[in-house]
Amino acid sequence: PSAGKKGDISREKSAEFYEKAKNYFPGGVNSPVRAFKSVYGTPLFIERGDGCFLWDADGNQFIDFCCSWGPLILGHNHPKIREKVTKTLAKGLSFGAPTALENELAELILKNNRYIEKIRFVSSGTEAVMSAIRLARGYTGRDKIIKFEGCYHGHSDALLVKAGSGLVTFGETSSAGVPKAFADETIVIPLNDKTALETAFANFKEQIAAVIIEGIPSNNGLLIQESAYIQSLRDITKANGSLLIFDEVITGFRLGFEGAAAHYDVQPDIITYGKIIGGGMPVGAYGASTELMRLISPDGGVYQAGTLSGNPVAMAAGIAQLTELRTSNFYKNLNTKTEEFADAIQRYAKAKNYRVNVLNVGSIFWFAFTDKAHIRAASDIDPASMEYYKTFHRELLNRGIYLGPSGYEVGFVSAAHSKIELEKAKRAIFESLDEVF
Ligand code: PLP
Repeated sequence: PSAGKKGDISREKSAEFYEKAKNYFPGGVNSPVRAFKSVYGTPLFIERGDGCFLWDADGNQFIDFCCSWGPLILGHNHPKIREKVTKTLAKGLSFGAPTALENELAELILKNNRYIEKIRFVSSGTEAVMSAIRLARGYTGRDKIIKFEGCYHGHSDALLVKAGSGLVTFGETSSAGVPKAFADETIVIPLNDKTALETAFANFKEQIAAVIIEGIPSNNGLLIQESAYIQSLRDITKANGSLLIFDEVITGFRLGFEGAAAHYDVQPDIITYGKIIGGGMPVGAYGASTELMRLISPDGGVYQAGTLSGNPVAMAAGIAQLTELRTSNFYKNLNTKTEEFADAIQRYAKAKNYRVNVLNVGSIFWFAFTDKAHIRAASDIDPASMEYYKTFHRELLNRGIYLGPSGYEVGFVSAAHSKIELEKAKRAIFESLDEVF
């Protein structure tokens, strides 16, 4: 497509950096979706961020709705996080020994979360989920897990089967290099399909260690599930002696402080966290009841460790961020402004008869280029609709709006997005939709 009325932003410096990066990294990046393979142009190299704004190497300014893929619920460079991190790093970066900061972050979480009693910090969402699966297997003595088509749980072997995120972006939803024997232990079923769930349990009755689901599946578009379906996962796992794992790497501290568990009012057996919990630093965590967590080493036989686990600087960032989230009406304000933002765009699209559905839950939103009313399973999304996103993304960048470089990825609103910026963003989105259709 043409660059529309606006013309394309300059990417000279970014292109220069990208050419260099290609000499060093596969695809020129350290995480696949960053390569802008399914949207227009070379990837933008980011220079800095502040509040809801990002600046790239060419000096282009954007209102950022990617927010580092979710962690930055307070926006970029939040003064309180910066202050706590700076103070902490002046004392040294890593000790590989316990610090009181780990207690502080754990206390902040556990005192305000009814769904877990004990927690273990790791350094990424991938590690958190991988460890949760091991715990479920260790507890039940069973090997198989059920995951859902389109759910992404990080890049560990057992979970790269029919996953979303970068895999669906590049069209091959299972990774090469995963031993067949490992993939055989992963049963993949569609979301929102009770019969498939019951059939899987009937076929593999006493072999299923756990069912794992994203709090709200958000890596293959936004696949909002009905509460009754989530309750059916709870019921069937309980009836069969299997565990239920909520992967709340995105939804944890995002939908509310207690994430999806409170959103559905369902008690899972294990919950995983990442992203927001680290305030922009690499932190993940998994938590469960005291009874279950007793199985983790050194008390129990399920081994899990990490050189940088509980890193003091990362803990400091997490403490500062989560403390802000405890202020009154934090989530009410954030979620209401996101809802108003999404509604306004939906109304505009409807008035113009554009085939776009603006989905929203909490401060997560997603543009579905379809007129389907319900989008609950990966198969509800037509891959051809991603062509619309390609144009949309380009037009948005040209108007100073930064969204993830894949149509399957959701957007996030942060506390730093003020009414003024959301108004500006809306106008840019309206204009971009006009260019798409
Ligand atoms: N689980 C979910 C739901 C995610 O969205 C992600 C990452 O996007 C992960 C796990 C993996 O987390 P990380 O990228 O920190 O390893």
